[in-house]
Amino acid sequence: MEQKELLYEGKAKKVYATDDPQQLIVAYKDDATAFNGLKKGTITGKGVINNQMSNLLMQRLEKAGVPTHYIQELSPRETLVKKVSIVPLEVIVRNIAAGSFSKRYGVDEGVVFDAPTLEFSYKNDDLGDPLINTSHALALKLATPEELETIRKYALQVNDFLKQLWSECGVILVDFKLEFGRLSDGTIVLADEISPDTCRLWDEKTHEKLDKDRFRRDMGGVEDAYEQVMSRLRQHEA
Ligand code: ADP
Ligand code: UDP
Repeated sequence: MEQKELLYEGKAKKVYATDDPQQLIVAYKDDATAFNGLKKGTITGKGVINNQMSNLLMQRLEKAGVPTHYIQELSPRETLVKKVSIVPLEVIVRNIAAGSFSKRYGVDEGVVFDAPTLEFSYKNDDLGDPLINTSHALALKLATPEELETIRKYALQVNDFLKQLWSECGVILVDFKLEFGRLSDGTIVLADEISPDTCRLWDEKTHEKLDKDRFRRDMGGVEDAYEQVMSRLRQHEA
């Protein structure tokens, strides 16, 4: 599949057109940003890890019954995906309090929930991705009630599956962000990426952070953490 014109350059990926109007190529960069683009940097090798991890996880999820945009890995940094119209929601699932949840509600990081929480942010950089509820999403016509229900069901299914998979790798899945999109026939599929950029992953024994929080919080060892989780996942799959 030949890469054609650059359609979009985001903070972490570039998106290219292909000969097929229903397919895109995403190319993962080593660029890292945090706090709505305020903090910028590079995480060497991140693009390769995020591409390969996301593809591995999406293939597993597909088998587990969650439809995804994944078609084929083209190179270490590039993947052919089904083109979707992105539902402008960041769908966040949490198992343990951390990040903005801890800050907003005054809950210590590490408090374990009895059941996963699901929240939506309106994906809009100019507004700083504000937290919204289901009725706000409907009022803004971001999705239909049926689509929101499908998204909710898939997001919790993804959580059940990935929590188990990561636990078999000695890793705790604290929280993560998903994006969904519509194929041309309206089918909702999981899109974008699942990686240490979009998940909080803690070592099961030490609770050491193995994700983008090391970059956000200037903790050092960012590259090592990304490599560490990827190699645990590879070992699990071997
Ligand atoms: P951002 O836009 O937040 O800077 P990225 O750098 O990751 O993020 O850019 C990738 C863009 O591609 C995102 O806007 C994402 O919503 C979009 N995207 C991801 N998967 C697909 C897909 N299958 N079809 C169309 N757009 C997609
Ligand atoms: N997340 C993401 N992109 C965003 C916001 C959040 O991938 O734009 C992920 C983040 O990595 C974490 C989860 O979603 O795994 C929950 O993030 P949170 O709301 O705590 O926000 P943050 O602390 O990142 O501001």
